Amino acid sequence: MSLKSKRAFVVQKHLARKAGLHYDFRLEMPTKKGTKLVSWVIRKGPSLDPSVKRLALQTTDHDISYGTFEGITADGAYGAGKTIIWDKGKYKILTKSVKTKEDLKKVDYFKFELYGKKLKGVFVLFKTKRGWILKKIKDGFAKERSNVTKELSKSVISNKDVT
Ligand code: MN
Repeated sequence: MSLKSKRAFVVQKHLARKAGLHYDFRLEMPTKKGTKLVSWVIRKGPSLDPSVKRLALQTTDHDISYGTFEGITADGAYGAGKTIIWDKGKYKILTKSVKTKEDLKKVDYFKFELYGKKLKGVFVLFKTKRGWILKKIKDGFAKERSNVTKELSKSVISNKDVT
């Protein structure tokens, strides 16, 4: 697959019955089990402020079809609680050595560009002892002292929220 080709990303805002409010950040990416939504849990969600670092804990890959899910999941089921599609769009990997999920194990960071409705421009995921950190790179889409999760809190497809 060409480096220039764009794939889908989605951020689901999830008010989970057990874990509470968090954001599931998902990048469509080839894996050993086919193309999946490689996923990270970000408690406070992404930020457009380049000075803000957000812990992003890698979690279970999800099927591509899950990326369009918005709604209520019954108690006891996986992901129980309420989910909205907080942002979605295409993304492009900018780090040449990363093409698949397996490549993520070999690098300490990777850069990508998001073409979402709320999240735009270049971001980096880099590894620390605690896990991955998501951070906005300074560019024309960066917004210092902004709080995009508060300012733009609702679903990009339904205008609903999880509360
Ligand atoms: Mn979740």
